[in-house]
Amino acid sequence: MKDSVNIFWFRRDLRYFDNHGFFQALNDNRPVIPLFIFDTDILNDLSDKYDKRVNFIYHKLNYLNTVFQGHKSSILIKKGKPVDVFSELIQQYEVKNVFANRDYEPYAIKRDQEIEELLASHDINLKTYKDQVIFEKDEVTKANGEPYSIYTPYSRTWKRKFSEKHVQKHPSEDFLTNLYQKKYNFPFLEDVGFKPSWNHYPDEEPQEDLIKNYHLYRNFPAKDATSRIGIHLRFGTVSIRQMIKLGRKLNETWLNELIWREFYMMILYQHPYVVNQEFKPAYRWIPWRQSEEEFKRWQEGQTGFPMVDAGMRQLNETGYMHNRVRMITASFLVKHLLIDWRWGEAYFAEKLLDYELASNNGNWQWAAGSGCDAAPYFRVFNPTTQVHKFDPDKEYISKWLKEYGTSAYPKRIVSHKEARERALQTYKDALQTGG
Ligand SMILES: Cc1cc2nc3c(=O)[nH]c(=O)nc-3n(C[C@H](O)[C@H](O)[C@H](O)COP(=O)(O)OP(=O)(O)OC[C@H]3O[C@@H](n4cnc5c(N)ncnc54)[C@H](O)[C@@H]3O)c2cc1C
Repeated sequence: MKDSVNIFWFRRDLRYFDNHGFFQALNDNRPVIPLFIFDTDILNDLSDKYDKRVNFIYHKLNYLNTVFQGHKSSILIKKGKPVDVFSELIQQYEVKNVFANRDYEPYAIKRDQEIEELLASHDINLKTYKDQVIFEKDEVTKANGEPYSIYTPYSRTWKRKFSEKHVQKHPSEDFLTNLYQKKYNFPFLEDVGFKPSWNHYPDEEPQEDLIKNYHLYRNFPAKDATSRIGIHLRFGTVSIRQMIKLGRKLNETWLNELIWREFYMMILYQHPYVVNQEFKPAYRWIPWRQSEEEFKRWQEGQTGFPMVDAGMRQLNETGYMHNRVRMITASFLVKHLLIDWRWGEAYFAEKLLDYELASNNGNWQWAAGSGCDAAPYFRVFNPTTQVHKFDPDKEYISKWLKEYGTSAYPKRIVSHKEARERALQTYKDALQTGG
């Protein structure tokens, strides 16, 4: 006789508490197998076997496993294609329902459709829930039902529609006794094809004082004055509901940033073509220079513009870059060097611990001028003025550029004035063609 079970499939929601889909699964009258799949369709694209994000996931799964062991259970870890994993599991168990939280990225939507079809052919339901956002898909739209493409009116409607019920807890942590009681083997990271690396990840609890003062210091990269919560939102190791509550209580500016996150998720869901193409069609005609050599100097932080170089080195060394500096480095690549934003986007995707397709794409398109609510194309950051404004004592620069001020520091790769003029002319000509 096969055991009759439900499955909860963990994806980007690696926490046992206040987890909507997990809560529903645990309250459905059958023991729940908690499952995580190291999806080879995703992992095979990662060339770095020491990838810090895979390490983070592994570390968090280990923690979940320890928590579940306290309830005579454990997490089932699989590696492979999700369809193959589910085909195998439905042979082994009498599976009634599979529960999961919704994911809005194009790959995830396609994957979930495949799984839903497979399960349906065995009379099993895939039940999905909203968990990683307050408002999803088309819950915040214009009065006529069309999606917004500008942030400010979107955020106004977001706030108007918001009520306390949106942040009510789904207390999955209270029902862990309903887990399926079996001790599965927990794999080594090497079994998944990766190797252990550095694991000093930011805290999950943002400090209250920091959030209270966020609007005052957030633009100064030398001050550690932002929450660093990005990686936790990405992998669901914090609950968005708890973060929104915190933002509402402590700081409107910080709350607005969390709403930017949902705005870009909505844009990606409504317009999945942005993954490869400019949101604004008129911007598809820019003749990018595509200089491999200059791209390499940008990647390595060797452009001779200290704010750009410091940012790239922070990214390469830590997997993090301050938001102000992300804007400056991105603008520099697309405007000063006229290199395709997709190259920069891909490099950030490879390196950022908090990499999030929707936010990365949205912000790169913002920098390139092609995005939904983008900076006007003629706004070209002056990387030197940005230092005076946001790193006046050169603390950030000196921290990341040890050779700054010596002859070892590289000469400027371009002249700001000439690069700016070239960018303006190129954009103007291309927009005339495209518009
Ligand atoms: C070129 C570029 C690429 C970026 N790529 C990413 C990315 O891959 N993943 C990512 O989460 N953010 C990205 N951002 C947005 C922003 O830089 C980071 O969210 C922020 O720096 C993360 O640090 P923090 O967690 O301390 O954020 P805080 O400043 O404390 O903000 C709290 C949270 O709000 C959200 N948030 C803040 N700013 C933005 C924004 N501009 N757009 C969307 N959400 C925001 C994030 O979830 C962030 O963790 C990018 C910005 C630029 C300019």
